[in-house]
Amino acid sequence: MSETAKLTVGQAIRAAAERLASSSDTARLDAEVLMAHALGVSRSDLLLRHLGDSAPDGFAALVERRAGHEPVAYIVGSQDFFGMPLRVSDAVLIPRGDSEVLVETARLRGGSARRVLDCGTGSGALLLAVLAGLPEARGVGIDRSARALAVAAGNAAALGLGGRSAFLERDWTRAGWRAGLGWFDLVLANPPYVEEAAALDPSVRAHEPAGALFAGAEGLDDYRVLVPELPALLAPGGTALVEIGASQAEAVRAIAAGAGLDSRLHRDLGGRARVLELRQSGE
Ligand code: GLN
Repeated sequence: MSETAKLTVGQAIRAAAERLASSSDTARLDAEVLMAHALGVSRSDLLLRHLGDSAPDGFAALVERRAGHEPVAYIVGSQDFFGMPLRVSDAVLIPRGDSEVLVETARLRGGSARRVLDCGTGSGALLLAVLAGLPEARGVGIDRSARALAVAAGNAAALGLGGRSAFLERDWTRAGWRAGLGWFDLVLANPPYVEEAAALDPSVRAHEPAGALFAGAEGLDDYRVLVPELPALLAPGGTALVEIGASQAEAVRAIAAGAGLDSRLHRDLGGRARVLELRQSGE
């Protein structure tokens, strides 16, 4: 028997938290989540009932993946967002707190919305959180990544939202991408908006999909292409909600104004610019 096999769950978690201290700001939490995953139990069950068990064989390998900066969400294959457990893989951006303002604003503004479009749906997080809050609405999620769309469709089915959602492969950098989509009361978008040279945590830069993050030197490339197309996707009285980087409000507002869209800025609880709400001017 190896030394590690003799450790209890509690001891193995402590050792893992030390191992991860230099690579993660949340080392103890990471260790607990990975151990719960290795044991196939919830984290609260782990802490209440399993600390004295002997540590499972597979745990050390999970800890080493995390020590190599792989995000916990990819290792365990899921991430909670708005109380929904979502499957995630390295084909999709991990749903983040950054997007909460967008979902909350969509639920507030979208009371009467029947048709919702999510541009760059990834795991489906934004669309599914909005549909869960708007029981009358149906949604379409588009993405250029077929692997991402498979993740999103799986999440929709698992959450009982498959009947109200469809997922289509579209790339807004290619001509004709809007063909056949129609008009929407609510358009959501969390496009790539990170500057190529941004200082990013290695768990993000080395593991999350570059195509979902980076948008040129200023992070504005996708807004420049996508925002001018929004008027053609909005039904009369419709609203688009676009997630932005904290320093991008003025630049994206200018792009929107050039496309005939009025904008209203929403900030997160930390006061950072997070979402622009866009409507056709004069509506
Ligand atoms: N909010 C993400 C981050 O800063 C970026 C998301 C995006 O580019 N759409 O990590």
